[in-house]
Amino acid sequence: MNYHDITKEDMLNGEGLRVVLWVAGCNHHCKNCQNPITWDEKGGLPFDKAAEDELFEALNKPYIDGITFSGGDPLFPNNRSEVFRLIKKCRALYPEKTIWLYTGYTWEQIKELGGISDIDVIAEGEFVEELKDNNIHWVGSSNQRVIRVKETLKNSSKELVLL
Ligand code: SF4
Repeated sequence: MNYHDITKEDMLNGEGLRVVLWVAGCNHHCKNCQNPITWDEKGGLPFDKAAEDELFEALNKPYIDGITFSGGDPLFPNNRSEVFRLIKKCRALYPEKTIWLYTGYTWEQIKELGGISDIDVIAEGEFVEELKDNNIHWVGSSNQRVIRVKETLKNSSKELVLL
């Protein structure tokens, strides 16, 4: 997997103060995407041991509330195994910190992936220019949903529990 950046005190991509891993690779190609440079899975830098150490060192700070996986698309097929490995590691090392993930896939397309239940919040769906709405928190267009994953998976009525 390749990545573009690790931001260390981010307040725009989830609640609280967060570390954000911006991965490379996205096949949604939404019109007017703000990060088209991230579409190429071979762009950016290899996510190697040094990058992983940097990520976990940033996450280790007591004032950091959690980690957000963004991109690109962390659930781009070739990113999934590496991203789910990192999610498992985050969950094991920092059970009290929250895990958010942004993806262009809809909940219905990803809800059965193994490892989804380790994520706290998923902001999902492609960005749709015609549905752009600057007043929605955490996402850019009104078709996108911000889902509380654990609560949704536990919900016997199968209705989504939104943030
Ligand atoms: S899913 Fe996100 S990164 Fe991918 S094209 Fe759409 S807006 Fe851009």
